[in-house]
Amino acid sequence: MNCDYLMVHYGELSTKGENKKAFIQCLTHNVRHALKGLDCQVSGKRDHIYVHLGSPDIEAEAVQRLLLVSGIQRISPVYKVNREQAELAKAGAELIIESGKSKFKVETKRSDKTYPLDSYGICRLIAGAALKENKGLSVDVHNPEVTLRCNLREDAAYLSLTSYTGLGGYPLGMNGKVTLLLSGGIDSPVAAYSLLRRGIKIEGLHFASPPYTSMAVIDKLKDILAVLNTFQSDIRLDIVPFTKIQEAIYEHVPEPYCITIMRRMMMRLAERWAKKRKSLAIATGESIGQVASQTLESLQVINSVTNFPVLRPLCVSDKVEVIDLAKKIGTYDISIRPFEDCCTIFKPKKPKTHPNIEHVLRYESFFDFEPLLEEALDGITSIYMADGEEVTPK
Ligand code: ATP
Ligand code: MG
Repeated sequence: MNCDYLMVHYGELSTKGENKKAFIQCLTHNVRHALKGLDCQVSGKRDHIYVHLGSPDIEAEAVQRLLLVSGIQRISPVYKVNREQAELAKAGAELIIESGKSKFKVETKRSDKTYPLDSYGICRLIAGAALKENKGLSVDVHNPEVTLRCNLREDAAYLSLTSYTGLGGYPLGMNGKVTLLLSGGIDSPVAAYSLLRRGIKIEGLHFASPPYTSMAVIDKLKDILAVLNTFQSDIRLDIVPFTKIQEAIYEHVPEPYCITIMRRMMMRLAERWAKKRKSLAIATGESIGQVASQTLESLQVINSVTNFPVLRPLCVSDKVEVIDLAKKIGTYDISIRPFEDCCTIFKPKKPKTHPNIEHVLRYESFFDFEPLLEEALDGITSIYMADGEEVTPK
């Protein structure tokens, strides 16, 4: 038997009653986009999205694409069969036998309560037919080798043998957009992925300090962007020329405070850019305690330049967990390529882990950074990727 539908099970929908309609609309739109070019039809219903496959050949490709779409809990290839009892029993038995397994179980969800058999009756009907057809089979409800799921609906019965676990979370775009500070390291792409799964779109912002940092960093960022592009079909990265600010910091600020003040400058620029781009928050890959600038004391001093929400999705993650996730999504091998970051090239020997805000304010008053901040914003250049291709920014 050929599978004719994919049934897409919703992610966190059950917890968001009032947002249900928006969730379904947004996810249906994203599913349609993900399946673009494949011969299939997508319809979003109250309890599932149904993808009607034009041909069984596209099943594997469609599943692969949907595994990258946030907001999907599970994807089940299903067989739509007539709900008339004899036909339902025959089709169910056929599928169990075709699976080649001997210990099986049938589970039924009866969405149409007017059907003459209850859920248990439907399980018995299908299991009975399978047992009669093939004497080598046995029912095992505790340790089945295969489970046939039957969803009995008003129009038909939908049978499935397998399902794939999706990304979960919320449909992308449902929870707004943030400006994500993207370095070439391991953490920030993983932070991006965590936000994407939450339905939050991202726009990357990178601070580059040529000639101290090389063009290789930009190539690396493009590769990271291409991976993130598989989760978010259109994505941009804005690159801030940061050299002059960094040089001014190292000329005017005592060395142990350079990183703290550099981060405050980054935050000021990120806020202004985020507002311009209509982002609702700034996000970073910071993790508490990882380095001197990420102690809670440092974060407080750095954060105090902005009232904008700053999301730090990895703030309590272990590095090992972050590395595992980076490997899973495919950014790890790109991130570990050697590169110079503006945070590492000027790294002070003894960066402050407990910076004093009074000192910070005094050192910042030694030089008027404002014109350089404005100049940096004016000099931003952008990379834009849509569906795996680099294109001109909109
Ligand atoms: P990552 O944290 O991505 O692995 P990293 O460890 O080299 O890179 P950190 O020094 O830990 O970077 O910086 C913490 C966070 O600050 C990064 O996750 C990123 O969000 C931001 N950041 C650091 N450097 C840059 C940069 N050059 N451009 C944009 N954001 C940056
Ligand atoms: Mg880091």
